[in-house]
Amino acid sequence: AAKDLGRGRFHFYSNDLHAEAEARSQLEQDLRDAIAEGQLQLYYQPVVSSATEKLTGFEALLRWEHPQRGWVPTDKFVKIAEDTGLIAQIGEWALRTACHELAGWPEEVRVAVNISPLQFANPQLPALVANAIAQAGIHPSRLELEITESVFLNDDTCTDTMFAALKGLGVRLALDDFGTGYSSLGYLKKAPFDKIKIDQSFVRGATLPGSRNGAIIASVTSLAHALGMDTTAEGVETLDELELVRLHGCSHVQGFIYGRPLCASDASERVKDGLTVEAKGPRASRAPRQ
Ligand code: C2E
Ligand code: MG
Ligand code: MG
Ligand code: MG
Repeated sequence: AAKDLGRGRFHFYSNDLHAEAEARSQLEQDLRDAIAEGQLQLYYQPVVSSATEKLTGFEALLRWEHPQRGWVPTDKFVKIAEDTGLIAQIGEWALRTACHELAGWPEEVRVAVNISPLQFANPQLPALVANAIAQAGIHPSRLELEITESVFLNDDTCTDTMFAALKGLGVRLALDDFGTGYSSLGYLKKAPFDKIKIDQSFVRGATLPGSRNGAIIASVTSLAHALGMDTTAEGVETLDELELVRLHGCSHVQGFIYGRPLCASDASERVKDGLTVEAKGPRASRAPRQ
């Protein structure tokens, strides 16, 4: 009987896993269709200078509105795109679209584009970036590429070569989600970053009593400053958080306090009204999300 029970349980789990795999491969197929049918969009979230409170640029963020399922969480489909290699195609589209959009915005505005580890490992990336810049007719320094620490897990020499090649194009490089991965000071020594983006998990709850996050933010910004790099605090939602990250020296701020990601036409409207921005949001911080 014990054996039967065991077998029953095995079947239960196996059906569960089967259903999960099924759902995933369905979503993967839907993602292929989404690419073919142009369902993907790029949204643009304001990035603001602490010193001037002016908009300095936007981060381009993928959005997918599925005809039946509605909005699919970006983290979820980006993960599938990475696992299946579809990110190469999606990433190229995002890069070209963001550069094209940027060409219609004021000169002092930049765009930041996320580059996945898979794209970073492709030796063709610099040529692709150069081509996107040339086709859009934008100055390379107006494009910032956001890279996460996970790219350092790959071969050292390839990584160094890639950084040098990208830097040689004149684009800016940002280290995204700093503090969440295998953060090593060695990366900061070697890689020619123009900016460190402090992950929102450090901003969340930073204003609450006893939080160590403020000390971490202050240390990262002073280190970045000493190395000649900018810092963006990510995910700033409240006025208290805004005050704190500015006090601790973050040169740039990004978060709902200055605006959610906008569709391309809304972003274009936004810059037509001038580059001044206003912080809008609740005063107090909430408890950190678990
Ligand atoms: P990320 O690059 O760290 O982007 C910042 C994320 O924080 C975005 O989530 C943004 O909507 C969210 N965010 C910004 N301000 C706030 C705030 O005040 N509060 C909260 N709670 N969240 C805020 P999103 O758009 O869901 O994107 C998730 C991740 O998906 C991105 O994290 C990035 O890793 C990836 N991703 C998005 N677009 C692309 C892309 O074009 N290519 C690649 N490779 N990855 C992308
Ligand atoms: Mg990013
Ligand atoms: Mg980030
Ligand atoms: Mg992230």
